[in-house]
Amino acid sequence: MSSTRTYLDHNATAPLRPEARAAMLAALDAVGNPSSVHAEGRRARHIVEEAREHVANLVGARPAQVVFTSGATEANAWVLSAGWNVILAGGIEHDSVLAPARNARADVVELPARGDGSVALAAVSEALERQAGRGARALLALQLANNETGVVQPVADVAALARAHGVAVHTDAVQAAGRLPIDFAGLGADTLSLSAHKLGGPKGCGALVLRDGLEIAPLIPGGGQERRRRAGTENVAGIAGFGAAAAAARRDLALMGGLAALRDRLEREALAAAPDALVIGAGAQRLANTTCLALPGQTAETLVIRLDLAGIAVSAGAACSSGKVGASTVLAAMGLPEEVARSAIRVSLGWSTTAGDVDAFLAAWAAIAGGRVRQRAVA
Ligand code: PMP
Repeated sequence: MSSTRTYLDHNATAPLRPEARAAMLAALDAVGNPSSVHAEGRRARHIVEEAREHVANLVGARPAQVVFTSGATEANAWVLSAGWNVILAGGIEHDSVLAPARNARADVVELPARGDGSVALAAVSEALERQAGRGARALLALQLANNETGVVQPVADVAALARAHGVAVHTDAVQAAGRLPIDFAGLGADTLSLSAHKLGGPKGCGALVLRDGLEIAPLIPGGGQERRRRAGTENVAGIAGFGAAAAAARRDLALMGGLAALRDRLEREALAAAPDALVIGAGAQRLANTTCLALPGQTAETLVIRLDLAGIAVSAGAACSSGKVGASTVLAAMGLPEEVARSAIRVSLGWSTTAGDVDAFLAAWAAIAGGRVRQRAVA
C-alpha cells in the first residue's frame, strides 16, 4: 500500500503482521503433508501444532479444543447449523451467525439490543424462561464484541444464565480476540469462533474452539484431520500465519491502553471539529480500537468515498463486508434513528496504527465533515 494511504479499517481486516508473513513464508517451504509419518510430514505437523498452541493460548483454551477452519464464517455456520430446534440471537450478530440461523430448521428468537448496543440481561433471562420446559435443543449466540460499534457483550453472565436453562452458548469472538483478554473456560461458552485476518494473520483461516465433551457432528467428513471434525489436508501456511499472529496479538494486549488513548483522542477531536457528530455506543463498554461516528445529515457512503479520496480507508457500517450500500442492520437493531444509522462510519485502529494516522484522519475529517465544508455549502 502506498505510504500516503492511512488504513483505519482493522475490523474489516488487519494488515498482515511481519511475524505472520515470516511464519507463512517458512511454512510454504515445508514440503510434507502433516498426516505423513516421515520427517517431512512431521515437520509440517509440528508447524500446525505449534500454531494451535498459540491460538489456544490467545483465548485461554487448550490446543486440543481448537479446530482450524477456513475462517470465522465457516466456524459460525458449523455451530449454527448443528441441528438446533431453537436459536436465540440478537440483531447485532454478524451475518455469518444470522444467515445460518435463519436457514436452520429452528425457531429463531430475537434477543433485543439496548440503545447503547449491549444486550440487556433481563431480556435474555426472559427469553430463556420462555424456552424453559420445552425440551428443545437450544443454542444462544452472543458475540463477544460487535464489529461495527466495538460494544462488548456480557457473555460470561449470559452463558451462566443459559447454562442454568440447559441452553448451549456460542460466542463469535472475532473482533474481541487480541483486543481483550479472553478466557474460554471462564466465559462458560460451549463454542467460540475466531478469524486470523482480524488479528494480522492471513485471510481465509480461522478456528472453532469447542469445550470438552461437546457433541457436534463433524463439519466435513473424510480423513482424520482435526480429530475427525474437519477433514482435508490442513492449510499449513495459513495456519502458521494464524499462529504467529495470535502470539503477536497476545503479546500486544499490553499495548491496548495506548491504542485506547489514540482512539479517544480521535473521538474527542472529531467531535470538536464536527459538533453535530456523535459516537455510537459511547455509553457502553467498548473495544479500545473501534469508533462508530455518525454525522446526521450526511450519508456514510459519501463520507467513506470522500475520506478515501483524501487517502483514508474506513468503512460504512455493515457495508464493510459486502460493498453493499444500505443502513446497517446492527445500528437498526440498536433502535437508532434511520438518519443517524445511515450516516455512521466505522473507524478501526490496530497494531499498525500510529499517532500520525490519527492526525491524517482528523485533518481529512475536519475538511470533509467540519464547519468549513458546511460554510462553503451555504455560501
Ligand atoms: N464475525 C464477525 C464479528 C466479523 O466481523 C467477521 C468478519 N467481518 C466474521 C465473523 C467473519 O469472519 P471471516 O472473514 O473469517 O469469515
